[in-house]
Amino acid sequence: MRIAKYLAHSGVASRRRCEELIKAGQVKVNGTVITALGTQVNPDVDIIELRGEIITNSQLAVYYLLNKPPGYICSVYDPQGRSTVLDLIENCGGRIYPVGRLDYDTAGLIILTNDGEFANLMVHPRYKIKKTYEAWVKGRVREQELMPLTKGIMLEDGMTAPAEARLLRVKAQESLIKIVIHEGRKRQIKRMCAAIGHPVIRLKRTGFDFLSLDGLQEGQYRFLSSSEVKALK
Ligand code: URA
Repeated sequence: MRIAKYLAHSGVASRRRCEELIKAGQVKVNGTVITALGTQVNPDVDIIELRGEIITNSQLAVYYLLNKPPGYICSVYDPQGRSTVLDLIENCGGRIYPVGRLDYDTAGLIILTNDGEFANLMVHPRYKIKKTYEAWVKGRVREQELMPLTKGIMLEDGMTAPAEARLLRVKAQESLIKIVIHEGRKRQIKRMCAAIGHPVIRLKRTGFDFLSLDGLQEGQYRFLSSSEVKALK
């Protein structure tokens, strides 16, 4: 396999960044600096080093699907000392990170991986991955109030693409809406709901493309199978 592909699959960085590192002379194969991007390696026999650190097979890609509880930050470190999603994964050895973000108070489906290339693909707007949310919002929502969401609604960073929106439940003081979007702007669902006059009380992501939270309680996780990873790419 090409050296940049191997490094990217090992979770070191994105493929492009790995190519830059190779061109910059930061990578050695069997003790020799290589700068040719076409260099082929066999991870079973070649010793591959990045800045002096041997990148071994044990660093090959892993993919977790986590049901994130509220109260965890989607980053690998929080300067404010709050718990991060990595705290929920046993013996993950550090090098994984979340694919995209859910807010601190949002629950639900998040993928964690050490595969930089996969992570970049999943959040790239070109791939338009379908994300499904269930939002408890303030007030009694009427079906027709969801229309602006399905047509596209103006937020401070521009119009949203048309979303799917369905009213699931109406209680005395709050309503449950299911919303499917293909974009991934910051706080997008909360801003969309606020824009129709129904601020979010609780938010959960229940789907990411064909993946769901089936069988996972909050705080639980499982590995993605290789066929699931392949199907997402
Ligand atoms: N939209 C939001 O407003 N928050 C999230 O965490 C995810 C989507």
